Amino acid sequence: MLRLAIQKSGRLSEDSLALIRECGINFLSTSYKLKTEATNFPLEILFLRDDDIPGYVKDGVADLGIVGQNVLVEAGYPNLEVETLGFSKCRLSLAVPRADAYPSIEVLQGKNIATSYPNILGRYLAEHGVQANLHTISGSVEIAPSIGLAEAICDIVSSGSTLLGNGLREVETVFRSEAVLIAQPNLTAEQTDLLEQLLFRMQAVRRAKR
Ligand code: ATP
Ligand code: ZN
Repeated sequence: MLRLAIQKSGRLSEDSLALIRECGINFLSTSYKLKTEATNFPLEILFLRDDDIPGYVKDGVADLGIVGQNVLVEAGYPNLEVETLGFSKCRLSLAVPRADAYPSIEVLQGKNIATSYPNILGRYLAEHGVQANLHTISGSVEIAPSIGLAEAICDIVSSGSTLLGNGLREVETVFRSEAVLIAQPNLTAEQTDLLEQLLFRMQAVRRAKR
């Protein structure tokens, strides 16, 4: 038996469920439950907040998970990744007020930056020799400059319209992300075999879409 953790409700949920179904795995519909069992494969599906998935898999509470690389790397467990899945593609970017000059990343030296990704951003800044004060906030990061909390932000960007609406412009791509399958490090031999079967099916699904 394998336990797979997926996001309960959010931008990963629909594509995660669709992928499992496209692998030929059937389960009863689930919207209000915390877990469900597949009817034709030894798989249990847990529905969690995406932020909790890396930790659950790291500790073996779940054997597998589907999560964004942004959340996985921020949590500090990049080596749990076993396969990229090709959906929920997005990027983490730095943005500054539209009117501010941005000759290079060095202008962020000593500045306040609001983000939900202090680890990924901190590493990026360090690689570029910049030291800044990172303010970790969990939501509505893009309003931070207008309320005087920060001179810049680092957040997920998709269309750019949220940035525009807050008078910001994107100046650096810090990290590119997509959904990945992750696995706990101590699978039994039987579980490893099941994972191989699952991976084989997932790869076939992706090949068929190309
Ligand atoms: P939860 O309630 O589970 O904590 P959340 O609000 O943190 O959910 P979502 O907004 O549902 O998270 O995003 C989940 C993941 O989807 C993100 O971590 C990222 O990997 C990806 N994602 C976020 N925004 C986009 C986007 N605009 N386009 C594609 N993928 C995205
Ligand atoms: Zn989340």
